[in-house]
Amino acid sequence: ARKAALAASTGPGATADGHKVPLLANVGGPADVPAALEAGAEGVGLFRTEFLFLDDSKKAPSEEKQVEAYRQVLEAFPEGRVVVRVLDAGADKPLDFLTPADEPNPALGVRGLRTLLDHPDVLRTQLTALAKAAEGLPVYLEVMAPMVADRSDAKAFADACRDAGLRAKFGAMVEIPSAALRARSVLQEVEFLSLGTNDLAQYTFAADRQVGAVSRLQDPWQPALLDLVALSAEAAKAEGKSCGVCGEAASDPLLACVLTGLGVTSLSMGSASIPYVRATLAKYTLAQCERAAAAARAADSAEEARSAAQAVLSGE
Ligand code: PEP
Ligand code: MG
Repeated sequence: ARKAALAASTGPGATADGHKVPLLANVGGPADVPAALEAGAEGVGLFRTEFLFLDDSKKAPSEEKQVEAYRQVLEAFPEGRVVVRVLDAGADKPLDFLTPADEPNPALGVRGLRTLLDHPDVLRTQLTALAKAAEGLPVYLEVMAPMVADRSDAKAFADACRDAGLRAKFGAMVEIPSAALRARSVLQEVEFLSLGTNDLAQYTFAADRQVGAVSRLQDPWQPALLDLVALSAEAAKAEGKSCGVCGEAASDPLLACVLTGLGVTSLSMGSASIPYVRATLAKYTLAQCERAAAAARAADSAEEARSAAQAVLSGE
C-alpha cells in the first residue's frame, strides 16, 4: 500500500485542497541532478556550492570551472526554479584559504556571508560565474546568502549581486535567530527568505550541530524553532514575498505539513524524501495543516509537538 501511495505521488506539491507548496531538491552539484529529476522535484531549493571549493584548499575555483558546474544544474530545470546559495565556508565547512584558523568558536566566527564580505573577490567571481551560467537559459534563477544576521548583511549581499550585474532574485537565508526576529527589516533588502533550520536550531538552542550530546536540542520539532519559522513566514507574507524551508525539517513528512500550516511557501529537501512529503501533504487540507501547526506551537517539547500535530492530522 505504501508503494502504491508513493507511485501515485507525482506532480507538483499541494495540499488536499490544492494549496500549492513547490517541492524542491537540495543538491550539492550536477551529480545530484538525476535523483532530483527522478523524484519529480519542481526545481532546486538549495544548491550548496561548497563542493566546487573542496578540490583545492589553497584557492577558489576559476570562473570558467564555476560557470560549467552552475550551467549543468541550471540546464536541468528549464522553466523551473533554481536557488543557488553562495559559498558557505567556515564552521563545519572550513576552507584553508578563507577560514581563520584561530577562532575559539568557529560556528560563531567568520563563516558564510561573513567570509564572503571579507573576501569580496571570491563573492564577485561566484556571482559573475552565476550570471554567465544563466545567460540565455529560461530558468528562474534565485541567489541567496547563508548566515545573514541583519538588514545590513542583506543589503551588502544585494549590493554585491547588483554590482556583478546578476539578473536574478536575491534572497537571505534565515539561520540566525536575529534574522527571524527582524525578518521584515531583512526583507527590505531582499526578495525572498529561505529558512536553514539546521543552523537556526543550532543558534536558537546554543547547541552545536556537530555535538551528539546536545542533539535533543537540534530537533526541528522544538516549539521555539517553530515560533521562529512562523515569525519569518508571517513577515514574508506581510511583505508579499516568499519564505521557504531548505533545512532537514522539510524532509519530515509530518513536519512538512506543519511548516505549510505555519505559512512556509516552498519546501526543499534531499531528493529521496520528496515522494514521501508529496504523498503526505496531499492527504491534508491547508486548514488541517494550520490546526496541526497551532497545536505543535502550543506544545512544550519537541515530542509533545510531534504527537499534538499527529493527533490533529489523524483526526483524534
Ligand atoms: C541549514 O543550516 O539548515 C542549511 C540548509 O544549510 P547547511 O545545512 O548547508 O548549513
Ligand atoms: Mg546552514
